[in-house]
Amino acid sequence: MELLKQKILKEGTTVGPEILKVDSFLNHQIDIRLMQEIGKEFHRRFKDHKITKILTIEASGISIASIAAIYFDVPVVFAKKVQSKNLDAETYKSSVYSFTKEAYYDVKVSKRYLSSDDHILILDDFLANGRAALGLIEILDQAGATLEGVGAVIEKGFQEGGQILRDMNIHLESLAIVNRFEDGKITFIEQNQT
Ligand code: 5GP
Repeated sequence: MELLKQKILKEGTTVGPEILKVDSFLNHQIDIRLMQEIGKEFHRRFKDHKITKILTIEASGISIASIAAIYFDVPVVFAKKVQSKNLDAETYKSSVYSFTKEAYYDVKVSKRYLSSDDHILILDDFLANGRAALGLIEILDQAGATLEGVGAVIEKGFQEGGQILRDMNIHLESLAIVNRFEDGKITFIEQNQT
């Protein structure tokens, strides 16, 4: 997605050899007009799937999933990372290793909001080693729901998540695939657009 790539080149910064910081439009401040184009693009790429809900993970996934959900006209469910008295006792749960925090955390979804009738699109901000996506897929499996696809705003092509999901024959769409950072310079892997 050209608009997104230009935004990454203009405003993205690198932290060490593996982390891309895009706080000015995705992870701290949110560029809503860009988010709207991202939502439209995910809809264009997944519109042939029957999707009943979009599943994401708090916090950064919520804005992406919410705006995309307008175009799919479906609800958003976000997996909770933080234990709260508000959360239903009956939950689906998986354990996810966080690449940025270097620690495991539990993600939970109330059994009320996922069922075996659901056809799910998973959306998230980044795809790195795929741990968050695999954790959400585990939750879908517990619910007996059907996975229709996974969408990432930014995939880091030098980490293994994309390969793992493609090897599982999952329909994966990444709107920008970052190749590597050379001396802080960001380059992309070109994709065939359908
Ligand atoms: P994964 O689970 O695929 O290893 O990592 C994906 C999750 O880690 C995303 O939800 C995102 O929050 C975080 N993440 C991974 N790499 C980056 C990165 O380079 N920049 C930012 N901002 N977040 C990242």
